[in-house]
Formats: sequence, C-alpha cells, structure tokens
Amino acid sequence: MLKDTGTALAEIPFIDLKAQRHRLGDRIEKAIGRVLDHGQFVLGREVEAAEAKLAEFSGAPHVIACANGTDALYLVLLAKGIGPGDAVICPAFTFAAPAEVIALTGATIVFADVLPDTFNIDPAGIVTACAIARQRGLAPKAVIAVDLYGQPADYDVIEPICAEEGLFLLADTAQGFGATYKGRKTGTIGDATGTSFFPAKPLGCYGDGGAIFTADPELDGLLRSIRMHGQGTDRYEHARVGVNSRLDAIQAAILIEKLAIFGEEIEARDRAATRYAEGLADVVTVPTVIHGATSVWAQYTLRLGGRNRDAFISALKADGVPTAVHYPRPLHRQTAYLDQLTAGDSLPVAEQLANEVVSLPMHAYLREETQDRIIASVRRALA
Ligand SMILES: *Cc1c(COP(=O)(O)O)cnc(C)c1O
Repeated sequence: MLKDTGTALAEIPFIDLKAQRHRLGDRIEKAIGRVLDHGQFVLGREVEAAEAKLAEFSGAPHVIACANGTDALYLVLLAKGIGPGDAVICPAFTFAAPAEVIALTGATIVFADVLPDTFNIDPAGIVTACAIARQRGLAPKAVIAVDLYGQPADYDVIEPICAEEGLFLLADTAQGFGATYKGRKTGTIGDATGTSFFPAKPLGCYGDGGAIFTADPELDGLLRSIRMHGQGTDRYEHARVGVNSRLDAIQAAILIEKLAIFGEEIEARDRAATRYAEGLADVVTVPTVIHGATSVWAQYTLRLGGRNRDAFISALKADGVPTAVHYPRPLHRQTAYLDQLTAGDSLPVAEQLANEVVSLPMHAYLREETQDRIIASVRRALA
C-alpha cells in the first residue's frame, strides 16, 4: 500500500497502524525487549499487569486475558456448562465468532434479527428466540449481545429480558471495548464480557489476544482454570476439561503501551466520525448512536439503501479510497449455520443490511485532508 502523501493519487489505508506505531516511538520495541530479557513468554508479569490495567480502564473487578476474542466468548460458555439441549441467542448480522462458539459447545444457536438504525440485536428478537427454543424442547440459557461497529447494544432493554427469561448475558465487545452505555463502560455490562485485541480492533496488539471481564469471582476462578487446561490446585492436577487459551507476554507488553494512548485515540475516532457525519449526512444514511451511548467506531458504516454497492465501491476505489463490507452475508444464511434456528421465519433487517452496508476508512490517525478526500469521493459517487 502506498503511503498517504495527501496527493490525489496516494492510496489511503483503511486502518493506519503505521501512524500509530510512529506515534508510539520506541516504546513497543523496549517493551518487547524487556520480555526477551526475562524470558517468560506465556502469561507471567506482563499479562498480570495488562489484566490489572484493563480492569482499571474498564472498571471491571476481574479481567482474564486469553488467546483471542473468539476464545474469550468460548471460555465463558464452557465455564457456564452450556452444551447440547441448550439454546444460545445471538444476532444474525455480525462477525461469525459468537455463532461459532455456540455451535462448538453443542448448543443450538437461535439467530435474532438486528435493529436497522444501530445494527445491534433487536431485544424483541430475544423474547421470540426463547419461545422458539422452548417449542423445540431446548433450554434457552444465554444471549451473546454484540457491540457492533463499536456501539454498545441496548442493554437497558436487554437486561430485564435476560432477567425475565433466566438468560446469562454475555457481551461481545470485540468491536466496542472503550465505549460507554448510559454511564457504564463496556466490560462492566452483562454477566461477562469478551473482547479481542486483534490488530485491527480499536484496541489491538500485534498478533492475537483477548480478554474476559466479569464481576463474578467464581467465574473468574473457573476461567483461569479453563484457559490453562482445566488446571486445579497445581499444574498437573486437572479439575475440569479446559483448553490452551493464554495470552503471551509480548502481546501483553504491547497492549500495555497501546492502552496508555487508547483514551486519546477514542477521542480522535469520535472527531473523525463527527466530521464524516457533517460531510455526508445530507447524501447518505450515516450511523446513529443511541441516546446516552458512545461508540469507539470500530467501523464507520454507511447504508446505501437501494443504490448499487458494487458501483459505489468501484467509484471510491478509482479515487484511491478503500472500503470494506462487514458483513456481506448474514450468519443464518451461511453454509455452516443453515441447520440452526432463527427467531422468526425471516430476519429481514439482517438480510437488508448485508446488502446495503459499506464501511469507510476509520482510525485515530485519519488526517482532515485525507478525510476530506474520502468525503468528496463518496459525494461524487452518490451524485
Ligand atoms: C473480531 C471479533 C471477534 C473475535 O475476535 P478474534 O480475536 O479475532 O478471535 C468476536 N466478535 C466480534 C464481533 C468481532 O468483531
């Protein structure tokens, strides 16, 4: 990819990790060097320090680091003993990880539709999903609510439904870590929260990484055991079936450096989102954030309505503006999940969004000149 020199021909990066690296200077190299010197590469002091800093940042009492964001969700389902005969509800319009982990436990997925304005799970769909699961003789046990594109799901509506239906609420904030919902920070909402530190997420490391947040000390203990082969009181005592899902020290060391500037980066992302809205809201449907919430803008996603998305993407590409489609096909239409259940005969919003969404470059280092080029390109493509 060419470097953005601000000229008309330079290609714009979709996410500019190089700009962040430049800003961090030699702090990352030094942090990695310290791990190389002490030689404890898996778990250990950097991982403990990262867990403590993530707890401080989020306000969550317990933080358990693990190998990636998918495992963060999977470990929680394992700890809750979810398996065959159980039903777990998740949105149909999201990345595949939440569906995948449910299927891996042997439980049945019930896909719920999403809301057209926030792209997040429709709380009414959770109620329908429970009824459908019970009709099939399944026990509804949990919901995985996703904070899609960086915005928290509507938890004030979801939580009473979970209480009423007896559901465990697992928040997937792989895209929303650092966002807030009515004064609450992601990581403190629901019974447990999973997040990802994949490099392209708002808070990423330089490899795979993930973490689980909870206020439940018993769950904390179970998760620490499960991520370590079900370890009991000593290393070769296995109290339960576990997995290997540990964060390595180099990733933790990188994460600590990146977390130190994450607050400022969130503000920069929000400024970029505001500028996009100012430049585009009169010509296309720009994202909306629900009252009382903030987004960390993992993606800045437009809805093109009935317009031709392929033509739009080509027009931007010709201007050197990259785009991405998250996600071109809803999960209930994926080969892997055709035998799972849906909350209703069809999930029309998920289907429609899959056909019309498109995401623009978004990161904390988007320069105003670059953004103006993107805005101009979008406006030309839609004219
Ligand atoms: C990225 C992502 C995950 C999975 O995270 P990994 O670290 O890639 O395993 C889970 N859920 C959502 C919504 C994601 O965007």
